[in-house]
Amino acid sequence: MKKGKKLYEGKAKIIYACAEKNLVIQHFKDDATAFNNQKKSVIEGKGILNNRISEHILTCLSQAGIKNHLVKRINMREQLIKHVSIIPIEFIVRNIASGSLTKRLGIEEGTVLDNPLIEYCLKNDKLGDPLISKEHILTFKWATKKEIEKIDKQLNRINDFLVGMFRGVGIKLVDFKVEFGRLKNSNDVILADEISPDTCRLWDMNTEKKLDKDRFRNNLGNLIQAYQDVARRLGILHEQSNIRPIKFPKPKAVKLKKNK
Ligand code: 5GP
Repeated sequence: MKKGKKLYEGKAKIIYACAEKNLVIQHFKDDATAFNNQKKSVIEGKGILNNRISEHILTCLSQAGIKNHLVKRINMREQLIKHVSIIPIEFIVRNIASGSLTKRLGIEEGTVLDNPLIEYCLKNDKLGDPLISKEHILTFKWATKKEIEKIDKQLNRINDFLVGMFRGVGIKLVDFKVEFGRLKNSNDVILADEISPDTCRLWDMNTEKKLDKDRFRNNLGNLIQAYQDVARRLGILHEQSNIRPIKFPKPKAVKLKKNK
């Protein structure tokens, strides 16, 4: 699939035009950023893993009747997706308290919430993606009441599905962020962007080991190994597959014959 011009570049992905009508190409970069771009790094192989993991999750969601932008993965780093205009809101769903919720409200990390908590943040890096209410969304017309009602219902369905899917492979879904967009041709709102360890908090069920981007945010190291673990458990990376460079055995010492 031939890539056209770059339409948008975000922190972890690039969107390119393509020849197909109403479709675009989403490219996953290896760039990692945190704390509103104050911490930056390039983590080799992260984009490849996120492309595969997100493809898997969005395909499963689609099979469960949750419409989304994915058409197909086209190579290691790219997907063909439906062209949408992204609603400028980050939709966050929380099952267990962590991250900004604990800092903002002093809730103890790890507190299990009685019901999933939905939060809305304005997608604005300059303002640090501030928390907003439904009233803000309606007042400033970032989305309509009908759209938010539809999205809220979908968030609960997505959460139910993902909690079950991850529980099945020994992972707790602590929280996640998703984005929605309006289809170019119909204005229908669908799930877009990505769902991966970059956008979810994933803890091992038994040890609570973090298997997500918090490894980068909190300098825990071994991010690629954690993302590979998630991919392996989801059955999309074979036991032996590895994104790290292949280690060749040391060459054996060869005794040279002395010249007579
Ligand atoms: P928190 O608000 O606690 O920082 O994040 C809640 C959840 O949403 C976490 O799973 C986090 O990874 C995700 N999230 C929130 N904002 C962003 C963002 O700007 N980029 C990414 N990749 N994930 C985000």
